[in-house]
Amino acid sequence: MSTTLKKVVILGGGTAGWMTAAAMIKLLGPQYCEVVLVESDEIGTVGVGEATVPPMSIFNKTLDIDENDFLKNTQGTFKLGIEFVNWGKIGDRYIHAFGDVGKDMNSLHFYQYWLKMHLAGKAHYLEEYGLNAKASYQNKFMRSENRGNSPLSNIAYAFHFDAGLYAKYLRNYAEQRGVIRIEGKVQQVNLRPEDGFIKSLLLNDGQIIEGDLFIDCSGFRALLISDALKVGYEDWSHWLPCDRAWAVQCEAAADPVPYTRSTAHAAGWQWRIPLQHRVGNGHVFASQYMSEEKAREILIENLESPPITEPRLVKFKAGKRKEIWHKNCVAVGLASGFLEPLESTSIYLVQSAIARLLALFPSTEFKQEDIEEFNRQSDFEYEKIRDFIILHYYANERDDSEFWRYCRNMSVPEALTRRINLFKSSGRVFRQTVEMFCELSWVEVLLGQGVTPRAYDPLVDRMSEDEIAQRLESVRQVIQRSVDYMPSHAEFIAHNCKAEKMM
Ligand SMILES: Cc1cc2nc3c(=O)[nH]c(=O)nc-3n(C[C@H](O)[C@H](O)[C@H](O)COP(=O)(O)OP(=O)(O)OC[C@H]3O[C@@H](n4cnc5c(N)ncnc54)[C@H](O)[C@@H]3O)c2cc1C
Repeated sequence: MSTTLKKVVILGGGTAGWMTAAAMIKLLGPQYCEVVLVESDEIGTVGVGEATVPPMSIFNKTLDIDENDFLKNTQGTFKLGIEFVNWGKIGDRYIHAFGDVGKDMNSLHFYQYWLKMHLAGKAHYLEEYGLNAKASYQNKFMRSENRGNSPLSNIAYAFHFDAGLYAKYLRNYAEQRGVIRIEGKVQQVNLRPEDGFIKSLLLNDGQIIEGDLFIDCSGFRALLISDALKVGYEDWSHWLPCDRAWAVQCEAAADPVPYTRSTAHAAGWQWRIPLQHRVGNGHVFASQYMSEEKAREILIENLESPPITEPRLVKFKAGKRKEIWHKNCVAVGLASGFLEPLESTSIYLVQSAIARLLALFPSTEFKQEDIEEFNRQSDFEYEKIRDFIILHYYANERDDSEFWRYCRNMSVPEALTRRINLFKSSGRVFRQTVEMFCELSWVEVLLGQGVTPRAYDPLVDRMSEDEIAQRLESVRQVIQRSVDYMPSHAEFIAHNCKAEKMM
């Protein structure tokens, strides 16, 4: 008897649901098994989630999605990094930029050479040596061109897009390839009495949707993994106390910048995501330290153009499902957990959950070893990203509010303490196997948040100080010349992926 799955049922048509549906139909093929997606227009989606990280282009390539077409259809813009304002202390500003900074030399990271000169007061800010940071501040963008050793040959970037248009775009893609969409509200989840696996979903119009594998993309409701299967939630709000966000859209900027901005406030922070047709904004805050009314007021006061929607409140709790795959149900997206949007990692977590599920795709036997491996890998990924986000809060010197004092004094996960201590003592950072953020991301945020190493790698001293100074200066000039060569972000969009005006 065949053990091939016959039917995959996805519950939810937000970003997670449609990304999953699109990837399943493309990579499994319509002949392998049926893919059905159930969603309720009446319930709608969370409606936020518009900034991404560079692996998103791998998702597009895997699905043969034309990047310009995707950006035209989602009013998208490019993203070279995230600017953090007022984080370490009020008045501070730094960029966590994607991509390289300088060139590694003698098998040592460029930043170690920079660190030596920086500690001696003989170097510019690290941002001067990286293409992405420099191009961000000059509002320039281009894709990589084949130019040998030039930094223009390898430009890392991500996207900003309209979440509603993105779900629509992927829905089109998935339906054209054979995904069946069913409109309806799930009223009841039926379990098999013999093993507690999910058997079917009962919809409000009486339809019964049976399946072999159920993917819970129902958002914060987590209808399958939590309500039906009773998988608990690991609460991380003692490390990430923000639990609310007001979101509002405002008028488009004349020249959208190629980066996300995150501005810290008294009990949280505000995002600014520039799209072609509007700017997305939101104030993420901890309700324990600030009232909803005050948070709303701060958001509106800090908009750069007039609002075009009413502010909307979203509530959440930082954490993760104890088991993201349980029995025949895999949670993807907000149903699996939520780390706040500071580093735009949720959509990436959707993408990596899909890749992991495909790598460990079950037969009807649902082998426990596969499920455990999936959960182990998911936990690792979540925890590493969690620590990276905690770092932004913990390493602060702000003394203007109870919130920042709490963050500075909280006890953080041991692995994070070890990382910070290693960096402080020798300027060293190591990326662990497949964790999402690379060494340079950690270095940029550690330095940006005011964590300064006491020493640099001693192997740097194999090169004379004069030579290091020369090399640094040469990198700085190459970066400046490269940025001068780049077109403006607006010009690049106009030539490649200009979206139609929205009515
Ligand atoms: C404030 C905030 C800001 C964010 N910013 C970012 C960001 O910048 N970058 C990033 O990567 N991520 C961000 N995220 C996360 C991102 O929004 C989500 O990861 C992404 O939108 C996926 O959401 P989802 O599809 O899991 O859930 P949702 O969008 O909530 O979709 C849930 C789906 O389930 C359906 N559903 C629910 N109940 C039922 C039912 N009973 N019957 C039928 N259907 C049902 C709904 O109709 C909907 O289609 C942010 C999240 C928040 C809260």
